[in-house]
Amino acid sequence: MNPLLLVGGGIGGLAAALALGQNGVATQLFEQSPAFTEVGAGIGLGPNAASRLQAWGLLQALQAKAFGPSQLKVMDAKNGRQLGCLPMAQDFVQRYGAPYLTIHRADLHQVLLDAVHAQGATELHLGHQLLNGQANTQSVQTQWLNPDGQTVSHESQAVLGADGINSRVRELAWDPQKLQASGHWAYRCLLPRQALPLAWRSDEMGLWLGPRLHVVHYPVRGGEWLNVVLLVEAGQEVQTPGWDTQRSAQQTADDLNQAIKGSCSRLQDLVRMSEHWRAWALFDRSPLQTAKDMARGRVALLGDAAHPMLPYLAQGAGMAIEDAQALALQWQGEDLSVEQRLQAYAQARWQRVAKVQARARRNAQVFHASGAVAWGRNAALRWGGAAVMDMPWLYAG
Ligand SMILES: Cc1cc2nc3c(=O)[nH]c(=O)nc-3n(C[C@H](O)[C@H](O)[C@H](O)COP(=O)(O)OP(=O)(O)OC[C@H]3O[C@@H](n4cnc5c(N)ncnc54)[C@H](O)[C@@H]3O)c2cc1C
Repeated sequence: MNPLLLVGGGIGGLAAALALGQNGVATQLFEQSPAFTEVGAGIGLGPNAASRLQAWGLLQALQAKAFGPSQLKVMDAKNGRQLGCLPMAQDFVQRYGAPYLTIHRADLHQVLLDAVHAQGATELHLGHQLLNGQANTQSVQTQWLNPDGQTVSHESQAVLGADGINSRVRELAWDPQKLQASGHWAYRCLLPRQALPLAWRSDEMGLWLGPRLHVVHYPVRGGEWLNVVLLVEAGQEVQTPGWDTQRSAQQTADDLNQAIKGSCSRLQDLVRMSEHWRAWALFDRSPLQTAKDMARGRVALLGDAAHPMLPYLAQGAGMAIEDAQALALQWQGEDLSVEQRLQAYAQARWQRVAKVQARARRNAQVFHASGAVAWGRNAALRWGGAAVMDMPWLYAG
């Protein structure tokens, strides 16, 4: 019988393969894409994620490709005034033992993939799409579409679903439950930093808050590019999450112009610096309610498959990396059954993940507030400063 079978070779799947391998656990990883290619743009990795990557021996490789912002500056999107500032860089290393990194998703993915290859504990199978599966008390049978277009079956001790927001593995052990459309969109672009006006070449991370929108920007690729994300409450209903869902380039440009109409000229200038914005419709699920939401019998979920969340705490990949470490820990020591290990993993994770999911939803309201709520938020940021912006409960976890 096959050992543990991982479905999905994104950040979560590769992190799990690596972490399990470091604990001497062999895995087979099946990815539907014919080649490992990561699309997307930049992501922020809090010290909670960076410390796990550091423990896996990846910090040096990451730092060669990532960026360490000096501070987080929060601005009012309407008038461009500074609201608050949180020193990061060395302050974070001293406080949390690991840096805050900003990185292109493809770079993080490549570092993980190289480490998985070098470790040699994982058999990688590309071009295999999970179609179906049945779990019983002895094993899990899965059916796959292979690269030749044939249906093949595999039997394994357990299946770990790291297959993202539209998880097929979820359907093996859980009742169907629709994803929740937020009506929010993320528009993302990358700008070459050297070509930008001096004001946009700083080494900071910027967060601009305005009614029904916010903007985040930070350098990636060792500082070569500025990653810009505009998050907007647009309200258009779409059925599935994904890049450019039901969006033409003209629609995207119109939406962006509409979104930034009430913003200060500096922010409008930034948004007009690129003609290559891509849109992503944002979906999530309600916060987990029990450990059973993450593992049942011989099937467990991790990353977006388990807990898709709004990116308003910048922690989706961070939680996938934490999941991977927690999962692997269950294979240290004690002689337990695979079901017991998966149950212990879910027990260790569900409450923290639920809190992060809930905070991400709450941030959507706080970041996009107007009127009295925005006034209170801005006052708290001005007077509370770094103490209000730091999140020890999250970063030290
Ligand atoms: C706008 C935006 C900004 C974000 N910013 C941040 C941030 O700053 N920080 C952060 O930590 N996170 C951020 N995230 C979230 C982060 O990108 C995701 O949480 C993370 O990438 C999820 O990784 P995953 O491995 O769980 O899933 P995925 O990356 O979706 O990987 C799933 C993999 O499974 C494969 N797969 C799917 N179905 C099958 C099947 N049937 N058979 C075989 N293979 C299959 C897919 O091809 C894919 O390779 C952001 C997200 C968005 C949308």
